[in-house]
Amino acid sequence: MKILFLSSEVIPFAKTGGLADVAGALPKALSKIGHDVVVVMPRYRQVNKEKYNLQLALTDLVVEVGDKQINGAAFSSVIPDSKTKVYFIENNDLYDRDGLYQVPGTDKDYIDNDERFIYFSRAALDMCKRLNWKPDIIHCNDWQTGLVPVYIKTLYSIDPFYQGIKTILTIHNLGYQGVFEAESMSKTGLDESLFTMDKLEFWGKLNFLKAGLVYADFITTVSERYSQEIQTEEYGAGLNGLLNARKSSVSGIINGIDYNVFSPSNDPIIHKKYSLKTIVNKLDNKKYLLKQCGMRRKVGAPVLGIISRLVDQKGFDILAEIIDKLLHLNIQLIVLGTGEQKYHKLFSELQSKYPTKMSLQLKYDANLAQYIYAGSDMFIMPSKYEPCGLGQLISLRYGTIPVVRETGGLADTIVDFDLAKDFEQDKGNGFVFSKYDSQELYKTLLRAINVYSDEKAWKKIVSNAMKCDFSWKSSAQKYSQLYGHLVHS
Ligand code: ADP
Repeated sequence: MKILFLSSEVIPFAKTGGLADVAGALPKALSKIGHDVVVVMPRYRQVNKEKYNLQLALTDLVVEVGDKQINGAAFSSVIPDSKTKVYFIENNDLYDRDGLYQVPGTDKDYIDNDERFIYFSRAALDMCKRLNWKPDIIHCNDWQTGLVPVYIKTLYSIDPFYQGIKTILTIHNLGYQGVFEAESMSKTGLDESLFTMDKLEFWGKLNFLKAGLVYADFITTVSERYSQEIQTEEYGAGLNGLLNARKSSVSGIINGIDYNVFSPSNDPIIHKKYSLKTIVNKLDNKKYLLKQCGMRRKVGAPVLGIISRLVDQKGFDILAEIIDKLLHLNIQLIVLGTGEQKYHKLFSELQSKYPTKMSLQLKYDANLAQYIYAGSDMFIMPSKYEPCGLGQLISLRYGTIPVVRETGGLADTIVDFDLAKDFEQDKGNGFVFSKYDSQELYKTLLRAINVYSDEKAWKKIVSNAMKCDFSWKSSAQKYSQLYGHLVHS
């Protein structure tokens, strides 16, 4: 099948979160199965033309956005270490900026995000026609490409080129919906009659994600549990009614990770390579990590790692309530991430208070992330909600034990370790708590720290974790089956 995969971020070109990892890995896995996959993303400032060998493919990609004629170009390249083709939509006014969606260092979205992603969506569709490459399936991702299913079913449907194309929209995070003032509607080129509450309108505003959820032929989320959760009021972010009404067209497919990239026995970034057989080398990575973070190793103390956007969704409010108490225990904590200013402040203050026990790295740093995955003993993810979560999957691969809340993809991938039972069964690969509550988190951390002090038990849980398989192979197969089903329906 011909699959057009639209994403606002793709590794290694540009990334703010898990979507980029999926968009870099799933298309590669689909190509391996034998599909003809084309990925399209914006040409942001950080997508260096020389480094990635971008070749000009098309000029004069003109789209009318409101009263503007926006003219751009398309460049082509491949995803590194693969033959999977990527096109980059270029328009310097829209994408040649330091941030992807927000002004860096602030919580402010770019005010023209509506125009940026209307142009991107339409330019990608126009590009396919200009290249005379008609996809069987368009796989859209998140709100940035939410209007594409609407275009296919309405504005573009009179053109035979676009007829019969099936659309899938994957929700990577329902918390981000792309909601704009009603005036944005006139920029879309869509008929104003679509601005009703059963279609594109959301409480008087234009909601890109909702639009996609109404018009896509099929909706997926990135874990089975999350696909159920979003149909409830607690997790539905105002769209649970719609998702529930479409439940026969909603399913969850768990993300994988790229096992070639994330591989402790083959990782060129980490200090010392290791596998389950050479797990003793993990200790060298721990020492190296602590040194990198300006700390000295404390005997018997587990290193707890956090790599995350520092936002409420990730459970930092409940962590904040117990973190002082936690730092009184014999542990060391390393936090890598950026996000809301209140958490920058909180962690900065804690670092000053406990300089030998905690290190804060307020930045985005892919290398340091690998040092943390390889060098930590535990990885903390107490998320309020978690569509899939990649951090826990990478941690498992590196024998770093996840401590997580039972929600979304965390619930689908992490099995609570039971000291009494897990010597007979090989299931427990982490520590799990259910209620979103700081004391539950604290108790679970205490339990993990307690098991850590039992060398034999810890070896067992590390072994269980490293034997898990969350590579893309089986998930790509599931997407492939879904595409086939849609194309033949
Ligand atoms: P989300 O997509 O909600 O941010 P995920 O767990 O799905 O969360 O994916 C986050 C990914 O981004 C992980 O691969 C994580 O290692 C990485 N990441 C997050 N923050 C940073 C950071 N500051 N530096 C390096 N990598 C980061």
